[in-house]
Amino acid sequence: MTPFQSNGQVDLRDDKVIASFGELALKPDIRPDVLFRLTGKLQTSLELPQLIEIFFREIQASVPVDGITYRFRPYNLVVSQGKTSAHSVSYDLKTQSETIGELVFYRSSRLREFELANIEGLLSTLLFPLRNALRYREALDAAFRDPLTGAGNRVALDRTLDREVELCHRHEQALSLLMIDMDHFKNINDSHGHTTGDAVLKEAVAAITDCIRQTDLCFRYGGEEFLVLLSNASQEDAMVVAERIRNSISRIRLPVNQGLLKVTSSIGCASLQATDSRKSLIDRADQALYLAKRTGRDKVIGEEGMGNSLLDQA
Ligand code: GH3
Ligand code: MG
Ligand code: MG
Repeated sequence: MTPFQSNGQVDLRDDKVIASFGELALKPDIRPDVLFRLTGKLQTSLELPQLIEIFFREIQASVPVDGITYRFRPYNLVVSQGKTSAHSVSYDLKTQSETIGELVFYRSSRLREFELANIEGLLSTLLFPLRNALRYREALDAAFRDPLTGAGNRVALDRTLDREVELCHRHEQALSLLMIDMDHFKNINDSHGHTTGDAVLKEAVAAITDCIRQTDLCFRYGGEEFLVLLSNASQEDAMVVAERIRNSISRIRLPVNQGLLKVTSSIGCASLQATDSRKSLIDRADQALYLAKRTGRDKVIGEEGMGNSLLDQA
């Protein structure tokens, strides 16, 4: 571990004032019982936010700091404790085989050389608990993801949908659901092979993800069917997103022997009503999708379209 950047407001290496010879050695000077206690506490959790919280709390007695921020870019992870201050020092965290993120310490007064040495000593207790927490997170993530497309899987959907429906009812918030099905997908497999079909599914999820907010969720519902949960979205909002998704999927171009393959999708859109259960919400999106298929594909049908069609049939 080495400090690899400061925030420009402090250059720790310029601090020429050495108060005692002890500082020259730059060895951590932390009581063994403190390290022992910290190591023990860090073993009590596999949850990253909790680990960072424990570390922040426990190091105060050895090196008081105002705040710390942990970042792991591959997962877009940022966990902060305390507050940021004028002075900072940042460490690249590495085990022998992998980089496991960056930890920044903040303090209103400069961190002295001997304190940095102590921070480095304390950090050594964090490395393996942190690596284990990342592995745990990876394992959990894999359990809830469809391996082909990276969309949430059915397990994730089952866990999420019940909770979302209940929460939205309780807080009287809007919630909309899109059911998306690739058009004539069997033909794509038959004409270009299963691998091309798989590539289309991946591209479709990338196109969907591009069109939704980070708080919205995309799940693989079946073979070539996806569910998108739009939080805080009215029917009107959801129809706009659905149309954007339909358009984005229709712009996919996949190189195949005969040229560029184009694909289309049909989308059913339903929005939560006061009497809705998870099942009735899915059923309405499914009926809307069915209508989109029956009336020509490559289109979006919402609640209004459903109403019209019922009138048509009457
Ligand atoms: P429609 O427009 O009515 O939806 O027609 P379709 O051909 O898309 O629908 P159908 O249900 O007849 O066929 C779906 C196909 O999706 C059949 C199945 O082989 C294929 N499929 C399901 N899962 C996968 C997968 O993971 N990869 C690939 N390549 N194909 C899949
Ligand atoms: Mg289909
Ligand atoms: Mg289907």
